[in-house]
Amino acid sequence: MSGNYDLVIVGGGISGASLLYTTAKFTDIESIALVEKEDEIAAINSHRTNNSQTLHFGDIETNYTLEKAEEVKEGAELLAGYLENHDPERDMHSKRSKMVLGVGDEEVAALDARYDEEGFGDLFPKLRPIGREEIADVEPKVVEGRDPGVELRALQTPDGYVVDYGQTTKSLVEEATEEATVDVYTGAEVTDVTPTTDGYTLGTTEGRFDCDVAVVAAGSHSLQMAKELGYGENKVLLPVAGSFFLADDLLNGKVYTLQMKKLPFAAVHGDADVHDASVTRFGPTAKLVPTLERGRISTVSDFLDVFGLNAASFLSYANILSDRVLLPYVLRNLVYDIPEVGPRQFLPHVQKVVPSVELDDIERAKGYGGVRPQIVDTSAKSLDMGEAKIVGDDIIFNITPSPGASTCLKNAMRDTHTIVEEFLGDDYEFDEAAFRAETIDHFPRGDGDSDPAGEAVPAADD
Ligand SMILES: Cc1cc2nc3c(=O)[nH]c(=O)nc-3n(C[C@H](O)[C@H](O)[C@H](O)COP(=O)(O)OP(=O)(O)OC[C@H]3O[C@@H](n4cnc5c(N)ncnc54)[C@H](O)[C@@H]3O)c2cc1C
Repeated sequence: MSGNYDLVIVGGGISGASLLYTTAKFTDIESIALVEKEDEIAAINSHRTNNSQTLHFGDIETNYTLEKAEEVKEGAELLAGYLENHDPERDMHSKRSKMVLGVGDEEVAALDARYDEEGFGDLFPKLRPIGREEIADVEPKVVEGRDPGVELRALQTPDGYVVDYGQTTKSLVEEATEEATVDVYTGAEVTDVTPTTDGYTLGTTEGRFDCDVAVVAAGSHSLQMAKELGYGENKVLLPVAGSFFLADDLLNGKVYTLQMKKLPFAAVHGDADVHDASVTRFGPTAKLVPTLERGRISTVSDFLDVFGLNAASFLSYANILSDRVLLPYVLRNLVYDIPEVGPRQFLPHVQKVVPSVELDDIERAKGYGGVRPQIVDTSAKSLDMGEAKIVGDDIIFNITPSPGASTCLKNAMRDTHTIVEEFLGDDYEFDEAAFRAETIDHFPRGDGDSDPAGEAVPAADD
């Protein structure tokens, strides 16, 4: 394997695939390659079992500010539109109810304020506040067995897109490879990136690729590659592994609990699986690990490369982990993966969503889960929320913790503008209108969905 391309994309997860789709279909870039180290596309965080399958719009994510929600919403609508357009049979997604649940006076007041005063009700016209009775209609198990004296409120929407991000990644790659300009190489690990007079040479385990422009969409590994080229010096990663527990048939859709503002990866939720609504997934947990990929000891040295073992990294970790909210949370999360003890300790989180659940009802989902590369700013010694993008000289690096899968097409749109307008120059064009016509223009707006519980929810008396 080898070749000379205008654009090489490193990483065949949903980020790399989205950029491949966007550039192949809607620009006149003449030759594009995607290089993936695994034998399969979407084998790491974008795989169906390794994330929560939520299309984040910002409506039920209570750690998002209104500004962040506005940003994420367009990204989610782009992907929802793609799915509506390309997946009429619902092979890669389903549409169910989605809600954030407030339990007790304080949480109910917080949700009411969010909806009425903070502007979320206006931003999301399909979102509605519902009380105990309506919650019981949509999600009976959320109310069953719960103390009737405790106040309940949910912000609920039928826009609960549940996405198999792995299948979606494959669909994006398939669409792109319809174009003669595109090559996809799997089983080829990029081992070094060297600047040349015209762009970059990428050394891989299977051969060498030359390109004018490179985009690194290698998940947790993007920052490692950036640092090798002298970029991202003020960033390190706090890798947070997430596991899940499984139960039978408890929820019809997605039920989130209130997130803590300081912890973008906290707050357990219950989710009916994208392909099988009779399986309910609870999680994710949040365990700090010294690896860049889940269960891969070989990536400990990659983590150390990114960490850098210098004073700024240690001081940043110390500052973040000494937080009075974060530290106990991190310590609690260490035990959830331990057999016997883990499920017992995790059970109260599940019971917050479904009170009648017992220990025997849940089991750890073996082999499920991934690692969220949370970004640490070593200048501010603080944890950054969400994704990061480093734009260099004819090269872009994308580091993509949640909601990276939800915003994949928006990210790709942004990168395509940079590639075409800043890197390649006047001879190239990005037809954004055509891109929007294939994606966001298919997103259903208004209150056309008369069934607030979404298509997959049985009537209350079924
Ligand atoms: C527990 C958990 C729950 C989550 N839930 C959600 C959710 O509900 N909704 C949401 O939007 N997001 C969620 N996320 C985040 C989401 O999974 C990621 O944002 C998304 O999958 C990132 O996609 P990606 O393509 O950037 O990275 P990945 O899917 O990790 O893909 C990166 C690819 O790069 C390849 N690669 C790495 N190094 C090299 C190399 N040297 N050479 C060649 N290839 C390389 C890897 O093999 C991999 O295939 C969750 C994440 C976790 C861990």
